[in-house]
Amino acid sequence: MATAETTVRKSEFANEAFVDFTRPENKASMEAALKKVAAEFGKEYPMYIGGEKVYTTEKMASTNPSHPSQVIGVFQAGSKEHADKAVEAAWKAFETWKKVPAEERAECLFRAARIVRERKFEISAWICYEVGKSWAEADGDTAETIDFLEYYGREMLRLIGPQPVTPMKGEKNFMVYIPLGVGAAIPPWNFPAAIATGMTAAALVTGNTVVLKPSEEASVVAAKMVEVLYEAGIPKGALNLVTGAGEIVGDALVKNPKTRFITFTGSKEVGLLISEAAGKKVPGQIWIKRTVLEMGGKDATIVDDEADVDAAVEGVAQAAFGYQGQKCSACSRAIVSEKVYDSFVQKMVERAKKVTVGPSEDPNNYMGPVASKTALETVLGYIDVGKKEGRVLVGGDRAPGDGYFVQATVIADVDPKARIAQEEIFGPVLAVIKARDFDHALEIANGTEFGLTGGVYSKNQQKLEKARDNFYVGNLYLNRKCTGAMVGAHPFGGFNMSGTDSKTGGPDYLLLFLQGKSIAEKLQ
Ligand code: NAD
Repeated sequence: MATAETTVRKSEFANEAFVDFTRPENKASMEAALKKVAAEFGKEYPMYIGGEKVYTTEKMASTNPSHPSQVIGVFQAGSKEHADKAVEAAWKAFETWKKVPAEERAECLFRAARIVRERKFEISAWICYEVGKSWAEADGDTAETIDFLEYYGREMLRLIGPQPVTPMKGEKNFMVYIPLGVGAAIPPWNFPAAIATGMTAAALVTGNTVVLKPSEEASVVAAKMVEVLYEAGIPKGALNLVTGAGEIVGDALVKNPKTRFITFTGSKEVGLLISEAAGKKVPGQIWIKRTVLEMGGKDATIVDDEADVDAAVEGVAQAAFGYQGQKCSACSRAIVSEKVYDSFVQKMVERAKKVTVGPSEDPNNYMGPVASKTALETVLGYIDVGKKEGRVLVGGDRAPGDGYFVQATVIADVDPKARIAQEEIFGPVLAVIKARDFDHALEIANGTEFGLTGGVYSKNQQKLEKARDNFYVGNLYLNRKCTGAMVGAHPFGGFNMSGTDSKTGGPDYLLLFLQGKSIAEKLQ
């Protein structure tokens, strides 16, 4: 139990600066890292259970979506038994890890941040190859990883020791935060370093132990991050890595009676399955499993008739096509006032035509591939639906190359209730919807089951005020793009079917991994 007053003093949190790739030395460093990493393609990565390296007979491969025949790495096809064993091992480690002073646990995160900073280009190169991020997007992922480590380390220091309670005469009272126990961390592939590391680090720094089950599409980057955390001093038993299929390993972790909490980021469909399974008491279970679920979005940007249309076009284009539209925060609906609709559409078409697509290791390509063959089929399927639901003005097809490339696609005149205006596509597809006025635009924006990010472009303060009050999203952005949340500055998480509004990178986040213990002593 943490009782000591904080003795460690850290400088105030500041976001990691992004790499400027226009500088020749940075460009050269990235090129060298891409070369170095490519020489390691095909390497096999073990699972880690209770500190032991574990190998399975059956293997899985992680491939490069820019060049699908390239095997980035080979990992283990874990089973339910591996998941169960890892939960047992994590409980064993919990007995010692929970007693490690919180300052020391935080220090592990600060050390991990330093290691990631030192290996920045190498980690970004792995991200670029494994999930098809451009240099800038990969660097953003790496920088956010550093930010989560630095921020959660500091947050833990803030939460150490007795928390203030109302004094009561004749009693000595206080409350302390203690860890929950063993948690399952189940991240998606789209922020393979930042999300996997962020959720894992938050659970660990609060004194819990973890079984991490990474995405099948991003298991190499996850293995690299686990190695970083071990090097930084996290005991092997406290962090277990079990790779494999989500429906097997993930499902087993969720249903295990000894799993105390689940931190998940991914699709609405899987999030709901987890919510349901975790809510069902199974034999041997003595607690209500806590779930932290961050899910999908159908994010909109409102372009008002009093907006700077050029700024809106740029913001929407970046949010719609950055990382091929594969961010939960991506703008997939532009809701445009009828007075500026034609001008917006014309400018957006010109802007989208400039989007270059191709292998992500080539810095001339703004967009790389979508993540997998399944993703490609899903996105193209939605584009086909979109051809019937609106007017395709740009794109609408695959882009050349053997990778999973899709053209930046703009579909205009879409009905607010059309499928492509309601369902998460997770690809570079923007639906443009016409609104009569600002109130109508807000009504359309709020008219989906999601509530993650939203943007508004307007010069009218009263309309911005109205959006502040009535645009029902976890992250609202005024006169700027709706992607690119910064740790600390923009705590991130959504409403409704976008999740449990667990605000990552914010002051409430670590509390999701803790429980308060209130202690009252009658003075003699
Ligand atoms: P996904 O739901 O397919 O998979 C997420 C994770 O769940 C993976 O590790 C997967 O192996 C695992 N999984 C799959 N089936 C499971 C099961 N039955 N039981 C337990 N675990 C299982 O999502 P994805 O394709 O990896 O990621 C894309 C989705 O993530 C999008 O919907 C996106 O919007 C969302 N996302 C949300 C946020 C956010 O902060 N809200 C951030 C990033 C991504």
